[in-house]
Amino acid sequence: MKPLSQELFARLEKQRADHLYRQLRSVDSAQGARIEMNRREFINFSSNDYLGLANHEAVKEGALQAVRDYGAGSGASRLICGSLKLHHLLEEQLAAFKGVEAALCFSTGYATALGTIPCLMASGDVIVVDKLVHASLLDGARLSGAKLRVFQHNDLGELETILQWADKTVGSEGNILLITESVFSMDGDQAPLRELVALKERYGAWLMVDEAHSAGLFGQRGSGLIEELGLVNQVEIQMGTLGKSLGSAGGYIAGSRTLVDYLINRARSFIFSTAPNPASSGAALAALKLLEKEGAERRQVVWSLAQELRRMLLPLSKESPASLIHPYLVGDEQQALCLSKTFLEAGLMVPAIRYPTVRKGQARLRITVTHGHTIKDIECLRSPLQSFSKDRIQ
Ligand SMILES: *Cc1c(COP(=O)(O)O)cnc(C)c1O
Repeated sequence: MKPLSQELFARLEKQRADHLYRQLRSVDSAQGARIEMNRREFINFSSNDYLGLANHEAVKEGALQAVRDYGAGSGASRLICGSLKLHHLLEEQLAAFKGVEAALCFSTGYATALGTIPCLMASGDVIVVDKLVHASLLDGARLSGAKLRVFQHNDLGELETILQWADKTVGSEGNILLITESVFSMDGDQAPLRELVALKERYGAWLMVDEAHSAGLFGQRGSGLIEELGLVNQVEIQMGTLGKSLGSAGGYIAGSRTLVDYLINRARSFIFSTAPNPASSGAALAALKLLEKEGAERRQVVWSLAQELRRMLLPLSKESPASLIHPYLVGDEQQALCLSKTFLEAGLMVPAIRYPTVRKGQARLRITVTHGHTIKDIECLRSPLQSFSKDRIQ
């Protein structure tokens, strides 16, 4: 038997050789369109803080006030003595924001998926997921013990074939859960939600939609693509995160009162975990309040920046962008790393996204536009991108 430490070292060496090794970078400033690393300033095209709220005065004040009122820690799990009034307020606001009866917060988006899916589905049930859903949703589905089927990204034909099979398989006893994202995290494209709703209704399935990258950015209230498409009453489980557009940290489920009561009673990552800390709940609450006032204006700013970027990346495209996430597909992992380094040298933070975040051979740059960018910032991307396109062997 090889000693484990030796084995770990060897695995890491292999990862390095495959250009898949990952390292942490220390950021020495607050989040924003500009960040400081190693005493140098970078224009940050990698953040999910789309509306620029993570370091917004009002949101920070929300966190600070919550710490003053409720302390630094919440003391226990929600079901013991950690269910602070602040959490209840936040959940009421989230339910109103999402246009549903109730909402429930978890400490992270990851814990939200991991707790929610397995308490709803078990062996005898079928979970059907889009091939590109986030790792948290896949992990939750695996943990449930239900049969898991994956359909090619946004492929409605394949999905229907799977749903027909699932319908027969579960019989009268089991249930079917269809899971997708409204805006995909690494591709920036949208799920065909209307068609997915029609399909899940035809086969009596439930639909869970993760709005991590669309909450804050779509719809009249800004609650997401589900709202924009008028599907609030047809999506049984809306999932969201507080760490992206809302500038804080945490995750939530929004849906019926029954769903939320059920999660309170059954979701293990909710029950067996300390309640979200006051600072992050206070910040999220302040962010929701801010969005009521300034959301539309902020959205307009970022969408017009995204339009600029899209014009630059696809000079002929007149289409409006589907999201603030712009993938620039490279393919080869080493080349993606190399390109990301070129950007870094030019003072631009544009991360290379590699396996296992995306499939092998699908490495890419992921450029995100956020509220604090200027047109000039976006212009800075042009020359490194152009030099790469020229070198590219097609
Ligand atoms: C970020 C993300 C999550 C996880 O949320 P955290 O709060 O960061 O744990 C879940 N789903 C999607 C699509 C995400 O992008």
